[in-house]
Amino acid sequence: MKAFVLAEHSDAAQELCAGARTMADEVVLVAIADMEVPAAVADKVLHVALPEGAVVDDAADTVIAAFDAEQPGVVLVEPTRHMKVVAGKVAAHAGASIIPDVIEFDGDVATDMYFGGVGMKKQKATGVAFYGVGAGVFAEAAASGANATEELAWVAPAKAIKLVSSVPVEKSGVDLNKADVVVAAGRGFGAEEDLQMARDLCDKVGGGLGCSRPLTEGVNWLPTEVYVGVSGLMLSPKVYIAAGISGQMQHMVGCNRATTLFAINKDKNAPIFKQCDYGLVGDIKTVLPALVAVL
Ligand SMILES: Cc1cc2nc3c(=O)[nH]c(=O)nc-3n(C[C@H](O)[C@H](O)[C@H](O)COP(=O)(O)OP(=O)(O)OC[C@H]3O[C@@H](n4cnc5c(N)ncnc54)[C@H](O)[C@@H]3O)c2cc1C
Repeated sequence: MKAFVLAEHSDAAQELCAGARTMADEVVLVAIADMEVPAAVADKVLHVALPEGAVVDDAADTVIAAFDAEQPGVVLVEPTRHMKVVAGKVAAHAGASIIPDVIEFDGDVATDMYFGGVGMKKQKATGVAFYGVGAGVFAEAAASGANATEELAWVAPAKAIKLVSSVPVEKSGVDLNKADVVVAAGRGFGAEEDLQMARDLCDKVGGGLGCSRPLTEGVNWLPTEVYVGVSGLMLSPKVYIAAGISGQMQHMVGCNRATTLFAINKDKNAPIFKQCDYGLVGDIKTVLPALVAVL
């Protein structure tokens, strides 16, 4: 059986190719646009160059043509916005549905989250299996392959997306997917300037700053690319320090694979204290400066 990997970022491509290797005899990585292809991860790399003015989502028809030619039995998808669009179109073409938010595989049984992470389901795919898989699920697997590269002929979509304008996404400076230590700020931070306390802690522990969703959507104190949880980043750092975060399931599924989870919350009954390794009941305004002072 052949596996397709649809990924947008190099790290995800590496990990999904490793996972694909555990599922299939042949691994085919589809690399769209200027993704940096990791060395020796797939038997075949199908490169899709975007014509001038085209957007990644428009590569779907080209990927569909490759899908028809290669006939994979399984497709692993990095859950980015672009890859979800491309994979959705390929799955619709194949008459298949995607099992999203997979957090674990047991053979061909996938455990995935639903209702925003409130529930877990175990499912088997019928027909071609499409899985949306976040970081860490195949962390133990090893990728291999000769990376024989082919350029795919561009198949223009019937209705191309017209790019009207673009703005650069604000980068946080640290790639949280790779960070060993993540300090995450939640709604316990009452004012934007208080985030400096979390940044100071990041500097002390060499960590990256993440957050819960309310600090991005709505108040825009931090870019959406750094919120952690079922609809954001799914992380597995060595250390995760959750400050002023209550511990709602939608957030915790994004950090509960951390090796060690610390929580700081002023409410001793906050749900996060049942889910962390070390809990500190206290006000972040007292605790964070004190931690920075002693570290
Ligand atoms: C479909 C869906 C998807 C979602 N996806 C995500 C997601 O991906 N990621 C995500 O984060 N959320 C997500 N949410 C939102 C999620 O349900 C929670 O609302 C959110 O995670 C809560 O963020 P919080 O813990 O920062 O805020 P709150 O729940 O308001 O908790 C704030 C905590 O801070 C503590 N606190 C207050 N002041 C202080 C202080 N001075 N010192 C110490 N502690 C203090 C409080 O005791 C409280 O426990 C999603 C929701 C839905 C419905």
